[in-house]
Amino acid sequence: MFESVEMAPADPILGVSAAFREDSNPGKINLGVGEYRDTEGNTPVLHTVKEVEARILSRETSKSYLPIEGSPEYGIAVRTLLFGEADVDEPVAGRNAVTLQTPGGTGALRLAGDFIHRHYPESRLWLSEPTWANHPKIFEAAGIEVCDYPYFDPKTNDVDFDALKSCLAGEVRSGDVVLLHGCCHNPSGADPAPAQWSEVGEALASRGAIPLVDFAYQGFADGLEADAEGLRTLLPSCPEVLIASSFSKNFALYKERVGALTAVSPSASTAAVMSHLKICVRTNFSNPPAHGATIVSDIIHDSDLRARWEEELTAMRERINGIRSLYVSTLKAKGVELDFSFIERQRGMFSFSGLDKNQVEELRERFSIYIVGSGRINVAAITPANVDGLCEAIASVL
Ligand code: PMP
Repeated sequence: MFESVEMAPADPILGVSAAFREDSNPGKINLGVGEYRDTEGNTPVLHTVKEVEARILSRETSKSYLPIEGSPEYGIAVRTLLFGEADVDEPVAGRNAVTLQTPGGTGALRLAGDFIHRHYPESRLWLSEPTWANHPKIFEAAGIEVCDYPYFDPKTNDVDFDALKSCLAGEVRSGDVVLLHGCCHNPSGADPAPAQWSEVGEALASRGAIPLVDFAYQGFADGLEADAEGLRTLLPSCPEVLIASSFSKNFALYKERVGALTAVSPSASTAAVMSHLKICVRTNFSNPPAHGATIVSDIIHDSDLRARWEEELTAMRERINGIRSLYVSTLKAKGVELDFSFIERQRGMFSFSGLDKNQVEELRERFSIYIVGSGRINVAAITPANVDGLCEAIASVL
């Protein structure tokens, strides 16, 4: 059987990292990677994570299974970050929230996909155009029909809110699910303004559609609380909301695979929703991995550790926002006349570089600079040491 299998295409994002690893040029730069880098270009383990890991190792006496939905303490930690210190079980009066621990944010998205497809086979899933390259594949693999809504206007380098709203209000059907990036839109870095979130919520509610908020970068834009504002604005108008959390970035726990799916629904249906989500987990990965989620839970439930983790998160955010300014000013200093000031206004690890496919190719061939084909760059991979060479190379291909 396997002799006739043909090679599958490389993953568009992870494939870039694989090519980067094989490049022997010592001056190579990888702006395709989806990880935070510090000033030295490393992705270190956070100090608070190291500290908690030591505690976990010394106190652990058993490796017995977690419940299907994961640890209840972890669920509370997740909902505390999402909804604030208010009632984490009932974030809106008359509506309850339940959380399932998943392997990464990807696991949460796939769990949502399986649940939607199993119970609402007619539902379509709407994705922003553009979106994270893995989004359509996750939902297609779950058997769901995927549609696009307009999102980014390359002329203004901002959200095309009129087009987005008219699509939501005109084309989305009752029972459809609309995925929204909680903050730090990947790949554009452009987020709706807080007031626009309430318009989105009202548009979805009037169509009878459900938002699925993909929250992979909480704390990377303007702060933990500020970044949750969009979600919290949406909640009162939408009776049912799904939220996929990822702690890969804000706890730098990438390979530990820490995520969660939270479902908000009218109190009368919460227990039934949870029971079906548990079946989806049972038939997929049975029950979740413990280590990474225990780290997150222990940090959030300990006020001292939480304060120190927030400092580490703030340092990551400030570095990203600082490097955005440095990148824009260095491009100018190297003679680039195009206006890249939008990169300073955008948030999170990603922005579009404005480079086309040929320029991306040329950067790779002449300068060993790796960028994904769409021109998306990870600004967190720019450092004071590589910014000059990078901007000279970009000036040269432009
Ligand atoms: N959603 C978005 C928008 C992402 O960018 C990512 C990671 N690149 C994820 C979800 C999934 O993250 P993970 O599975 O690594 O936790």
